[in-house]
Amino acid sequence: MITLAHFDTHPDFPVPGILFYDISPILADPALFREACDALTPAPGSVDIVVGVDARGFIFAPVVAQTLGIGMSMVRKKGKMPGDLLESDATIEYGASELVLSPNGLEGKRVLVVDDVLATGGTASAVGEMLARAGAASVRYAFLLELGGLPGREVLKDFVVTSVVEVP
Ligand code: 5GP
Repeated sequence: MITLAHFDTHPDFPVPGILFYDISPILADPALFREACDALTPAPGSVDIVVGVDARGFIFAPVVAQTLGIGMSMVRKKGKMPGDLLESDATIEYGASELVLSPNGLEGKRVLVVDDVLATGGTASAVGEMLARAGAASVRYAFLLELGGLPGREVLKDFVVTSVVEVP
């Protein structure tokens, strides 16, 4: 079973004062990687599309989408994707991030947003705000790791949020 012990921790990365949780040991172990993907996957029929968040959400979101037999869409860092895009500025645990999303195919859809870590909730709420503008019918979130002591859960209090492992 995946526990906190399966994450490597790096103090003062990427900036002083941040304890960074590294998911690499889970990816390196096929049984843990499989378990992580399964735990991130909601009941079949409960969502219509999976949105993966640049960059580590891209590791899990396609597996979840394929397991459910549905499509996925990408939230990317600004400048990495062409086309007519929605934009949002996210304030995250260790800085700021400009995110973009194509609104195509999201109107009226029940969306599952997949990312590796929920920290302050800045990224997730920016994604949710873009999805609302794209006309999504509902938004829920699945994270591998939820960092306690930060406002992420409170920021997302109006949404269904699941996390596989929680840091107290
Ligand atoms: P938030 O926006 O909730 O403050 O931060 C979440 C975003 O930053 C996620 O996209 C996640 O990938 C990244 N992030 C923040 N802290 C960590 C961490 O400790 N480990 C990893 N792997 N990602 C983090």
